[in-house]
Amino acid sequence: MPYVSGKTMIQQAWKHGYAIGAFSAHNAETVRAILLAAQEEQSPVMIQVGQKVISVMGLKPMKEIIDAFMHDITVPVCIHLDHSRSFEQTMQAIQCGFQSVMFDGSHLSFEENVRITRAASEVAHALNIGMEGEIGKIGGTEDDISVDEKDALITSCDEALRFSEGTDVDYLAVSIGTAHGVYKQEPKLAFGRLQEIREIVKKPIVLHGGSGVPDDQIRQAIALGVAKVNVDTELRQAFTQGLCEVLTNDPEEYALAVSLGHGRDVMKEKVIEKIRLFGSNGKALQF
Ligand SMILES: [Zn+2]
Repeated sequence: MPYVSGKTMIQQAWKHGYAIGAFSAHNAETVRAILLAAQEEQSPVMIQVGQKVISVMGLKPMKEIIDAFMHDITVPVCIHLDHSRSFEQTMQAIQCGFQSVMFDGSHLSFEENVRITRAASEVAHALNIGMEGEIGKIGGTEDDISVDEKDALITSCDEALRFSEGTDVDYLAVSIGTAHGVYKQEPKLAFGRLQEIREIVKKPIVLHGGSGVPDDQIRQAIALGVAKVNVDTELRQAFTQGLCEVLTNDPEEYALAVSLGHGRDVMKEKVIEKIRLFGSNGKALQF
């Protein structure tokens, strides 16, 4: 083990009715928090590398940081590129050894989105790498792109099917009422639409904006075919809370190992909570 193709990982979760947590990493400590949580819970896990961290740290260095922390990890891990908006970057991630990539062409025309996602899909499949595409606009701000709530439309069954068939993606991100970032009011997922899309596309569905969605709605979404749940905001909040606890207690605590270390510990507990909610705990041995 322990790197596993995103395709294998998500298929396995989908077949068995649980979801893989796709947790965003931002530095060495957050990578460690995710890996330690997965190891402790004996859970398969995805580590997501997003556009913000790539702009600060670089794609390849992030991959190498994750590699460096794999030495004592025995559970299946998949490194995923989140919300790539360029074909070139998607290819770079594949070249660097990611096991899963997302091309997000949701800001393009339908035809352009299909065309580029399909091209990326062909390369990914030739190399047994999981491929994610997005159809519909998910609300909130992700990296550089903001989608107003009024523009965040619920994905239609027709476009989901045409996109799925046209691109041959392995798992499909749709817009069913979640948003990136912090919710201003409690989200209400469009479960009827989720069920319709699942029945028509017959593929695992990806839920973006998983932070702040009430647990019962997450459980219901997984029961209706969601097999990958992205979590970023809640983890950043946990990490920051850990840092603040140390610095509030002692504003002159300049040992970063202490403050960052506590951030890691608090975030690790949050990852464990999500792993249990998604039902992937104890599933490492399925691989
Ligand atoms: Zn997202």
